[in-house]
Amino acid sequence: MDDVVAGNLEGVGVKKPPHHWIELDALARQELVASWGLPSYRLAQITRHYVERFEADPHTWTDLPASAREAVSSAFPVLLEPVRQTMTDRGRTAKNLYRLTDGAKIESVVMTYARGSGSRSTLCVSCQAGCGIGCPFCATGQLGLQRNLTVGEICEQVRLAVVDLESMGGAPKLNNVVFMGMGEPLANYGAVVEAIRVMTAGSPDGFGITARGVTVSTAGIVPRIVDLSAEGLPLTLAISLHAPDDDLRGDLVPLNKRWGVGEVLSAAADYFRVTGRRVSIEYALMRDVNDQPWRADLLAKKLNGLGRGWVHVNVIPLNPTPDSPWQPSTRKTTEEFMARLEQARVPVTLRDSRGQDIDGGCGQLAARA
Ligand code: SAH
Ligand code: SF4
Repeated sequence: MDDVVAGNLEGVGVKKPPHHWIELDALARQELVASWGLPSYRLAQITRHYVERFEADPHTWTDLPASAREAVSSAFPVLLEPVRQTMTDRGRTAKNLYRLTDGAKIESVVMTYARGSGSRSTLCVSCQAGCGIGCPFCATGQLGLQRNLTVGEICEQVRLAVVDLESMGGAPKLNNVVFMGMGEPLANYGAVVEAIRVMTAGSPDGFGITARGVTVSTAGIVPRIVDLSAEGLPLTLAISLHAPDDDLRGDLVPLNKRWGVGEVLSAAADYFRVTGRRVSIEYALMRDVNDQPWRADLLAKKLNGLGRGWVHVNVIPLNPTPDSPWQPSTRKTTEEFMARLEQARVPVTLRDSRGQDIDGGCGQLAARA
């Protein structure tokens, strides 16, 4: 588990994906532009193609001298090869399966929502191929960890999602990015935070997505929660709790044996104190496993014990995964669980389950070819 948490498996037996322009700092970009024999004003021009127009093939950039396009292309390797796109919800949800340069596969899900006269959109992004935490109810967890994704591979999911939105109609820009796809973001901390900086920087440095629209969901790597609160980014932190007691949480989220419920919740409350951002507690309801009224009461007691106004609970209907013994709770039990939290004045919402029928819901991503 130590290696998994520290991301030490990165690179073991794995050919590193090539470096991408978006991963380079200002100096490295300047040097590259100079090595191509181009004047320095080309630097912002090249970046703008990628971050403003979401274009990744320099061969088509006719404002660059034709003689330079081949060289520029070497800094824009194809990191994600689209294998398959599956649509559902009448074209409002798209699941993408991508092959990475070393053959590993990942998935991401784009969702659009009509709201008032406009529309909004969310990308559920992957940060690892597989996941090493091993929650038994999660399809990604059953794969084990293949490897961490690079900054470029995470950013490319974002760029390709914006390209998808253009064909899905309605939502012209990406409003939210949630790290709820494959993998544990805080076990690939450096790449995830760097990718978030790229997403949230304005042009010509980044995609200009508001940091308040970015959610990092974690199984509870406490030291990295502390680090995240000090990054100066107004992100939303989501904690996958699923049980208020160590006995049960130790079975559902194996990481709990390392950092228990008390430590995780107190780190989450500190995150709110430092950032002012309300924390989301994720609770996937499983029939006769974690959905008893006494567990709702215990959850409310533990959350309220750390203060008021710092947290809300997001109840997730359990999505089915292959060979899983876990079943979703009934509607009545779900309503009662939520009502008990409300009675204790803990804000609670029910997650709308998108993409279940295409195995694109939470915990269903397994990148099967
Ligand atoms: N590893 C991170 C983020 C990816 S999982 C984490 O665990 O938080 C994203 C969310 O999906 C988590 O809240 C996770 O607990 C939840 N999830 C996993 N399997 C699920 C399933 N079968 N049904 C519903 N939610 C699930
Ligand atoms: Fe990993 Fe999150 Fe799935 Fe657990 S729920 S196995 S931490 S992706």
